[in-house]
This record gives sequence, C-alpha cells and structure tokens, in this order.
Amino acid sequence: MARAKLLLGNWKMNKTVSEAKEFALGSKEIAAFAKANNVLVGVAPTFLCLQTVKENVADNMIVAAQNCHFENSGAFTGEVSIPMLKEIGVNWVIIGHSERRTYDNETNEKCNKKMVKLIENDMVPVYCVGETLEEYVNGKTKDVVKQQVRIGLAGLSKEAVKKIVIAYEPVWAIGTGKSATQEIAQDVCAYVRSVVREMYGEAAEETLVLYGGSVKPENIKAYLSSPDIDGALVGGASLKLDSYQAMLENLVK
Ligand code: PEP
Repeated sequence: MARAKLLLGNWKMNKTVSEAKEFALGSKEIAAFAKANNVLVGVAPTFLCLQTVKENVADNMIVAAQNCHFENSGAFTGEVSIPMLKEIGVNWVIIGHSERRTYDNETNEKCNKKMVKLIENDMVPVYCVGETLEEYVNGKTKDVVKQQVRIGLAGLSKEAVKKIVIAYEPVWAIGTGKSATQEIAQDVCAYVRSVVREMYGEAAEETLVLYGGSVKPENIKAYLSSPDIDGALVGGASLKLDSYQAMLENLVK
C-alpha cells in the first residue's frame, strides 16, 4: 500500500493569535491544492493559538499541538493534557522535538508515556528523533536513533504502529540552514523504518517517516523523492503562506 505524503509545519514559539488566524484564513487554497493532490498538510501552532487556527482552517488542514502531558489532569503547572486538546478537535501532537529534549528534559521514556496515552486516545503522535552534531561527528547517529525509536515505541500494538508518524530531524540541521543531504536523510529514515520493522514487522511499512531540518521550497522535492521519506516536518519555511505553498507545489511536481 502506498504511504501518504505529509507536509507538517512546526511553528515553534512564533505567531500571536492574530498572526496565526491570518495564516489560517489564508491557507484555504493550500488546503484545497493539497486535497486535490492527495497530500496531507498541517501546522503545529502554540497551545494558545490552537483553537483559533482549528476554527479557521479547512477541514483537511491538520492542526497539531507541539507537546502534551501524559496525565489527564492534575498538579502540572504550565502543562496541557490530551483531553484538553481532544475537546477542541486537535488530534495530532508532536512529541520529543529536539528543542524540548534539550530545554525541557523530554526523555525517550517520557515520550513513550505520551506515545502510549496518545494512542489510547486515538490521536496521532509525531515522534521526533535525531542525533546532535557531536553524535553525528562521532558516527553515533544510528545508535542514537535506534535507542530513541526502541524506547519511544515500546509497548505499542501493530495497529498503532501503522498510525504513528516518526520525524527524523538531525539536531545539527534544525534551524541552521545546514540541511542533511538527501542520501543521509534517506539512509537514516530507512534505518528508522528498519528498527520499527525489527520491533513490529510489516506494520513498519505503513508508518510515515518524515525528514526535518532546514527543509525549504528548493530542497523538499529531493527529500520526498526518496523511497523511505514520506514527508517533511518544517520549521522556518512553514511560517509564511507563500513558502508553505511553494513547498507543497514543489513536492507534488
Ligand atoms: C523543526 O522545527 O522541526 C525544524 C525542522 O525546523 P527548521 O525547518 O527551521 O529547521
């Protein structure tokens, strides 16, 4: 079965509510183009903007949170839970982004708790993995990614594995303008899939694996032409409607 193509924008800590609304209202054409070309598209705004964006985008524009807590409620100041997201119709959540791993102690084990809870709630986790520059330079990429995948995906059913998304994002390529070569991205994405296959067999063929790290209109096509790269997780280039649209158009060319 052919896997879907996915373009997901990670807005990080950018856009006020009014800026996010402006993007949402302006994204109708993008959503229509994506639908006509069988591409899944989405954006991940801050928690504050989720509801506004959700209310102002086309139905086929995925709206994802950038994080969630694994408990439903309780004394976790500053956190947002899965039922809170569900209630406003947000069913996709990015977990394990390298910025959260670096600044917010997001460990593989914590990601696994979130992963399990998201699946229990019929949500789609977008699980980010990837090595730091130091790990890359020391030839540790595959060891690191293997560990992240093995722990992050522990205890799932095969059915669940078919629904999750994994984003390979080398930390040295995020927001640096230094994107990984197509060969590196394909090699590691194929490796990610092979680790999933070791754990869950053929279900791995249905897992969407994305590349992320300085993706832009000029390089997206090359990544998406690689057999194991099903889409892109994009930060900077997803913030403006014109570059988002250009990525989408180049992706389907
Ligand atoms: C990201 O935030 O996941 C990302 C890949 O950022 P950028 O595209 O800006 O490198």
